[in-house]
Amino acid sequence: MINEKLATVKKNIPSNVTLVAVSKTKPNELIEEAYKAGQRIFGENKAQELKNKAEVLPKDIQWHFIGHLQRNKVKYIAPHTSLIHSIDSIQLLTEVNKQGLKNNRIIDCLLQFHIATEESKFGLSLEEATELLNSNDFLNLKNIKIVGVMGMASFINNEEQVRNEFIRLKDIFTQLNNNFFNQTGTFQTISMGMSGDYRIAIEEGSTMIRVGSAIFGNRN
Ligand SMILES: *Cc1c(COP(=O)(O)O)cnc(C)c1O
Repeated sequence: MINEKLATVKKNIPSNVTLVAVSKTKPNELIEEAYKAGQRIFGENKAQELKNKAEVLPKDIQWHFIGHLQRNKVKYIAPHTSLIHSIDSIQLLTEVNKQGLKNNRIIDCLLQFHIATEESKFGLSLEEATELLNSNDFLNLKNIKIVGVMGMASFINNEEQVRNEFIRLKDIFTQLNNNFFNQTGTFQTISMGMSGDYRIAIEEGSTMIRVGSAIFGNRN
């Protein structure tokens, strides 16, 4: 039962850690079950799927976009999303800003970092993020707000390596907070940890975990 699995995950996390229930590929009925159990934040990784779900499910759901985002898909999620976890270029951020302006809103975003050893994972390096945040293009974006960082650890059975990757993301967060955000207090989210590694992520400073299969069961 989804409410039981949700309760189990919640029991394992401190109150300062936000739980994003990753509902990608799952039907609306299962999301409604989690909603009835009190869950209000859901994560999706396909733009069109997020839009379709947001249009029919309760309006007080907060929809997080957690997947790789193509620029031509931003328009689908811009009216609906409360947080985009996967900003990995100034070009993407510029498009999010444009769609934020069109929808008359400011869209909260996380910078995604490449912390895993796997080539396939997306994300910035600290150097690239520093360049982005220093750029004139960035300073002109008024309809986005960078509120933290996101990363995915390697998908491996090596706790020490996973832990070190989370430590690295926390360190990146601290450096960016010191160098770019200290006056504002708006930079506060560290999105790290999934079904298999969220306990380690929390021990290393995660403030937001993205948990799918531990709540909704395996995906095909
Ligand atoms: C699918 C996904 C998750 C959730 O993964 P589980 O292992 O099912 O908890 C978390 N983050 C991202 C970016 C994802 O794509």
